[in-house]
Amino acid sequence: PLPSIAQRLRNLNERQLDAVKKIDGPLLVLAGAGSGKTSVITTKIAYLIQTCGFKANSIIAVTFTNKAAREMKERVVGMLSKQESRGLSISTFHNLGLRILRKEFRRAGLKEGFTLFDAQDSLSLVKEILDKEFNGQMDAAAYCQNTISNWKNDLTTPQEAMTNADTEEFLLAAQVYVQYQRYLRAYNAVDFDDLILLPVSLLMADEELRDRWQKKVRYLLVDECQDTNASQYELIRLLAGFRRCFTLVGDDDQSIYAWRGARPENLERLSVDYPNLKLVKLEQNYRSTKIILKAANTLIANNPHIYDKALWSDHEEGEPIRIMVTRNEDAESERVAAEIQSRHLRHEIPYRDFAILYRGNHQARLLEIKLQAYRIPYKMNGGTSFFSRAEIKVLMGYLRLLVNPSDDNAFLRIVNVPRREIGPATLEKVGNLASERGVSRLEAAGYKALEESITGRSLKSLQDFERWMLTLRQRLESGASPVPVIEQMIHDMDYYGWIQEQTSSNKAGDRRIENVRFLLDSIQRMMESAWEEDENAGLDQAISKLLLIDMLERQEEEEDEDKVQLLTLHASKGLEYPHVFLIGCEEELLPHRNSIENDDIEEERRLAYVGITRAKKTLCITLAAKRRQYGEEIDCMPSRFLDELPEEDLVWEGRGDEGESAKKERGQASLSALKAMLNS
Ligand code: ATP
Ligand code: MG
Repeated sequence: PLPSIAQRLRNLNERQLDAVKKIDGPLLVLAGAGSGKTSVITTKIAYLIQTCGFKANSIIAVTFTNKAAREMKERVVGMLSKQESRGLSISTFHNLGLRILRKEFRRAGLKEGFTLFDAQDSLSLVKEILDKEFNGQMDAAAYCQNTISNWKNDLTTPQEAMTNADTEEFLLAAQVYVQYQRYLRAYNAVDFDDLILLPVSLLMADEELRDRWQKKVRYLLVDECQDTNASQYELIRLLAGFRRCFTLVGDDDQSIYAWRGARPENLERLSVDYPNLKLVKLEQNYRSTKIILKAANTLIANNPHIYDKALWSDHEEGEPIRIMVTRNEDAESERVAAEIQSRHLRHEIPYRDFAILYRGNHQARLLEIKLQAYRIPYKMNGGTSFFSRAEIKVLMGYLRLLVNPSDDNAFLRIVNVPRREIGPATLEKVGNLASERGVSRLEAAGYKALEESITGRSLKSLQDFERWMLTLRQRLESGASPVPVIEQMIHDMDYYGWIQEQTSSNKAGDRRIENVRFLLDSIQRMMESAWEEDENAGLDQAISKLLLIDMLERQEEEEDEDKVQLLTLHASKGLEYPHVFLIGCEEELLPHRNSIENDDIEEERRLAYVGITRAKKTLCITLAAKRRQYGEEIDCMPSRFLDELPEEDLVWEGRGDEGESAKKERGQASLSALKAMLNS
């Protein structure tokens, strides 16, 4: 059971308590890793509700990832009664934006059932525009998508982008931006960046709406605020409004999302925008051993600072930091797997206490292989998400089209999956007719006019498809409960048969079908319990929410399991683990080659800082002498960050070759792995 609020308050140090009790006016908690910033937020939410009598639904808390939001919610809910926590909103910025947009979508020029475009949808829309209107300069697609996203995060309108475009590339991107927005509206769709941008524009432009939201939101809390971008900052400012009551917490040393438009300088802007801003600094680290903390402090001291932090720890010295040098990347992954297995078996450390952190996702592939070889259960964070599985993506396409017939992207994605013999030429004709008449592709598919240009099987398939969708939609509109309608749809197109056909084995097919069933269950559950008290449930709501939240239940289920955690440094922010392996500590990997070229070492150093400060008890850093790259073995240089760690606290193992003790350990571990294998 989690401690009560009174107990929690007693556990806080004086500064933390200060931060919790400051409820009038703006507050910024700026402090290093592991100093209890997130703890301040969770305790404060409970304090506001229980001690100060705030209604849960008048408090909005925001953080960076769904995982972090879930963890925070769990902690807060544990301190409160069910009654007290009802309607509490702890979410990501995107979820908050979506929530606002769902209420106010009409004012943003959207229609009921609007669709959320994911990154892939956005990219294919950009491609479509380039293809149609810009002589097919498709290779510019990724660049345009990126630039548009940056503009949106900076609240730059298409018109402003046009005016300011001073190079040919920018001009192209700006022109695409103009079209992109037009198409999005025509599709009745929004993209991820719109989830912040549109609420901000509405709050800025519409006084009535702004008043309403500012009255509703009595208190605002934001975690990881060093990584907010310009539009998110604006959203905070607008929601805080005349009350100016909020708590932001952050650490400028952990700003690692500049590449995605984060503006750490927002921290400095705060004291300009809010002259009566109270600043609280926390200095005691409660997470790591003295040695780990010292390493982190020494490393980050190489970066310039807004103010100097003096983090100290009451914990024991702890073990020295191990630096493991291996022959190549195979040996590196092997050593990490062997180590974990041996420590798990010999010291009975649960698997879930280990985390392996890396700079790039590609580094996980080899690790996975080795972990599997040792039969070590693991969980990859940010790996293939539920929604990128083919069987789910396709079905989501159907659902999107079902709730929003104008969603041409969804139409294109699914009209021929499973195969209906509707080829590209046919689709082009449908597309042309649709633009001519100013209707959606789905609608155009039912037009008689098509009979002039399309014949035979294609025509029949297309018309059948259109009629079928129409019938399903009519059932929905006449009030049928959605899940049976979806089941009908799945049955009609023999979706499960198609899935089995697509998979190599029956077992794999069954698993995929299981996934689809899980999706249906989740939709059912969402319809039954509207997720916020003030929201009505509809299929469209359920779907857009589903797209954003990566399968709440499923992940929570998995988190209870005893598994080694694999994650990128970026994904590890805010989390903590007793034992951390930081792998690939080499030049060009960490710091990353691109950052070396762009002279952006500071952000890489912060990334390393984030990695080191995840560790509570032990830290092991690994690097390889050689690494394969594009089929060639290249020599690797140890990361410059290793030189910036306190030499006296490091133990180097197996420089070049493997030391005797390491060899022995590995032998033992292999042996135990073998035993474990034989026993299972
Ligand atoms: P990060 O910068 O990595 O996000 P943080 O500043 O948010 O870290 P928390 O995650 O809140 O830090 O706290 C780090 C650890 O210290 C947690 O395990 C938390 O439970 C513990 N902790 C926080 N405050 C105290 C306290 N006053 N007494 C004891 N433990 C504490
Ligand atoms: Mg935190």
